[in-house]
Amino acid sequence: MAEPLFRRLALIGIGLIGSSVARVAKERGGIAAEVVANARSQKTLDRVRELGIADRVEADPARAVEGADCVMLCAPVGAYAELAAAIAPHLAPGAILTDVGSTKVSVLRDVGPLVPEGVHFVPAHPLAGTEHSGPDAGFAALFDGRWTLLTPPPGTDPEAVERLAELWRRCGSMVESMEAAHHDRVLAIVSHLPHLIAFTICGTADDLADESRQEVLRFAASGFRDFTRIAASDPVMWRDIFLNNREALLEMLARFTEDAQAMARAIRWGDAAYLEDRISRGRKIRRSLIDLKQA
Ligand code: NAP
Repeated sequence: MAEPLFRRLALIGIGLIGSSVARVAKERGGIAAEVVANARSQKTLDRVRELGIADRVEADPARAVEGADCVMLCAPVGAYAELAAAIAPHLAPGAILTDVGSTKVSVLRDVGPLVPEGVHFVPAHPLAGTEHSGPDAGFAALFDGRWTLLTPPPGTDPEAVERLAELWRRCGSMVESMEAAHHDRVLAIVSHLPHLIAFTICGTADDLADESRQEVLRFAASGFRDFTRIAASDPVMWRDIFLNNREALLEMLARFTEDAQAMARAIRWGDAAYLEDRISRGRKIRRSLIDLKQA
């Protein structure tokens, strides 16, 4: 087994993502000699202790980061500003401060200015997840074959970036670096807009009269069923993602609305060729995803 990359890894928030990282460290090794976990509630701290996925649990985030050479924020992005303010004075010189948040411009905005001199700030986002949350939902194979995107601000020490990239490779991920604003635009189309559409469709079905709602649930065909799986995701996490990727998401939503209107027009005027062309594009995209092993 490879030597651990870090002496002490502090996970601030230990739900689906944090507990999956903790499980990789425990089950596969090579990540950190010691894992310290922090959560907001006593219930989660107790559960993490029971599961035995961290070496130590700490109720106070400031104490959790003391002496850690890697600190990873794994809470909803809306909680970052408050958490960063609480931990910043306690970060060890030379430590890497990173995160797993789904939006990245907001992380630079909320956390960046609070990072003390001598601490390396390397934001990251593993593109892996499920609709479940909490420490019971995590598993070590979550990141296998998935991308993790790093968005280090200009001037970040390349050695710190490389160490974090190695952490994610040891978690099973493929790693790429990009600019935070580019990340947010890409994620708006591949993840945030699809979730927004899923929440909206479920809301629309729920708004229908009681009788037809029964029918919707009884005869849920695969299309609607697939949307309900996406729409089962954590409300706080998704509220925070929408509010923290406002510009990119609104831009993608405007483009989507225009394209949906074009579909409506083709249906109204019986433009079969347009409809067939659009539907075939969907199939083509699905095929390329399968070829890239990302399906
Ligand atoms: P989760 O399962 O809901 O866990 C969140 C953790 O953060 C919990 O331990 C929670 O503590 C803690 N926390 C601390 N302060 C909090 C606050 N103010 N509000 C709510 N929770 C707080 O979440 P997750 O799915 O692991 O997501 C964590 C981060 O990863 C988010 O930033 C999300 O955007 C990102 N992400 C998620 C996915 C996904 O599919 N889920 C994928 C990639 C990235 P308690 O348990 O004590 O409440």
